[in-house]
Amino acid sequence: MRLVAETGAEHGVAVLSPEWLLFYFMTPAFEKLQQQLKQLPGLGYRSAERIALHLLVEKPAQLTALVTALEAASRSVRRCERCGNLAEGDVCGICADERRDRSVVCVVEHVPDLVALERSGAYRGSYHVLHGKLSPIHGVGPDQLNLAALQARLAAGEVAELILALSNDVEGEATCHYLTEQLPSEQAVKVTRIGFGLPSGGGVHYADSITLKSALDGRRSYS
Ligand SMILES: [Zn+2]
Repeated sequence: MRLVAETGAEHGVAVLSPEWLLFYFMTPAFEKLQQQLKQLPGLGYRSAERIALHLLVEKPAQLTALVTALEAASRSVRRCERCGNLAEGDVCGICADERRDRSVVCVVEHVPDLVALERSGAYRGSYHVLHGKLSPIHGVGPDQLNLAALQARLAAGEVAELILALSNDVEGEATCHYLTEQLPSEQAVKVTRIGFGLPSGGGVHYADSITLKSALDGRRSYS
């Protein structure tokens, strides 16, 4: 086993080789924890290593609190049985709020999309979270999406308008198309798609071609 990495030795610096680093602190349990952390969104190998060291060595008290919080959340947080949002009871806070307009349903891909729309304060209807979008390449078909609950809401006749707030890409378009095909023919449900246009404060010359096409397609009368 080489003690000094060749790249470091070239510069006269005693840099420990990766093998020795592993030998020093990569116990099987540590490696398992790092592998699990690496699966989380936005975390690469180095970030996972840093977090694992932080929790195990620097701040072990935080690790205990984190484990307790994870266990509590996994026991109590679930999907709202009506819309798919996060809930701690049968339905989420939005579905339980009588002031929200249940006849208007904004369909989103993921919970963070719902959070972003809520943060805008511009919407007072209800939601439906699909937890994904149709993507044959990634093996996501209708059965993998939260569609049964949406069909139940439509069948109950409580929906007057569906606002499709799905991605502005091929998979988002395919999902929109699928949803409109599945609408009960006997009901007159208005279907709208959110407009995709220029970012606030952004000029036309900064926009990419897809955004400009969406902005043109989604134009509305100005008078
Ligand atoms: Zn809900």
